[in-house]
Amino acid sequence: MLKKKKIEIIIGTNNEGKLKEIKDLLPKFYLISSPKDYGLRSPKENGKTFLENSLIKAKYFSKKSGKICISDDSGLEIKALNNQPGIYSARWGGKNNNFDLAISKIYLKLKKIDKQWYRKKIDARFICALTIFGLKKKPIQSIGIIKGKISPKKIGKNGFGYDPIFIPDGKRKTFGQMKYSNKLKIDHRSKAFKKIKKFF
Ligand code: IMP
Repeated sequence: MLKKKKIEIIIGTNNEGKLKEIKDLLPKFYLISSPKDYGLRSPKENGKTFLENSLIKAKYFSKKSGKICISDDSGLEIKALNNQPGIYSARWGGKNNNFDLAISKIYLKLKKIDKQWYRKKIDARFICALTIFGLKKKPIQSIGIIKGKISPKKIGKNGFGYDPIFIPDGKRKTFGQMKYSNKLKIDHRSKAFKKIKKFF
């Protein structure tokens, strides 16, 4: 039987949480690398949307490495905060990616709007934009969304970023409490991935 030749793909992110999730979504016959393997830092994300920022990263890492790149730009939108932090989700964690700080900022802003906010249902959604660059002539893009509510307390040690405060609709647990494999079945990243899976 012929062995399938391994194709290298660079996952265009320096975020360990995303790197693991995308790695686990990709078919196993891909040889996976990351910007770290090439000593590459992330480019400036000066797009106005998740799709624009995802394309900026995919193009940059593909050109720099000479490989096909799949890149993700994602974040949390909270309805009561005019969809903040949105594309600035990573930046709210500051230089040290401190998500305790980012979550405190969310709680503070919600409290400013309504002191009793924690008694109400706070609508939110995670969005993920994926871009594959270098596989076809044109970049391939997709979007995945999962709706949910903001938990008034941080719960759970699993996952990364805002996972401890996000309860997906129809579930009782935060992403931070859920088993990693269960989060991966339903989250915004896997939804976006399913739409472009046929290209791999
Ligand atoms: P960026 O796409 O690199 O700009 O970063 C997106 C930010 O959104 C991450 O740093 C996380 O804080 C947050 N984020 C995106 N996806 C998830 C997720 O699945 N769980 C928790 N936080 C996420």
